[in-house]
Amino acid sequence: MEDCLFCKIIKGEIPSTKIYEDEFVYAFADIAPQAPFHAVIVPKRHISATTEITAENSHYVAKIFEAAAKIAEENQLTNGFRVVNNCGEDGGQTVGHLHFHLLGGRLLAWPPG
Ligand code: 5GP
Ligand code: ZN
Repeated sequence: MEDCLFCKIIKGEIPSTKIYEDEFVYAFADIAPQAPFHAVIVPKRHISATTEITAENSHYVAKIFEAAAKIAEENQLTNGFRVVNNCGEDGGQTVGHLHFHLLGGRLLAWPPG
């Protein structure tokens, strides 16, 4: 997707601080961190939102959660963490490329606001 911010980050056209990368997944530091540790994990293929996950592309979601487990271990998030997906306007999604926030390093409130 030509005009997608996260596709540009994946391609390196917009700089980011890499946290993790493999064949399917890229993870980078959120530009506006909401916790001491805040990674954004994205599929390397453009999928616009959770509403667009299908049997054909859902393996990317599995790969994202495999990456989340590795990222948490590599960054010593031994006391726990949260993985969040915002979908659509009411969900607070601001970038139209599927992504999961991995937040940790402090006690996170529940339920979210
Ligand atoms: P959403 O609100 O869609 O769930 O999450 C989008 C996230 O992307 C936000 O947490 C926001 O801070 C982050 N973000 C937006 N633009 C950029 C950027 O250019 N670079 C990085 N590293 N993060 C960004
Ligand atoms: Zn994209």
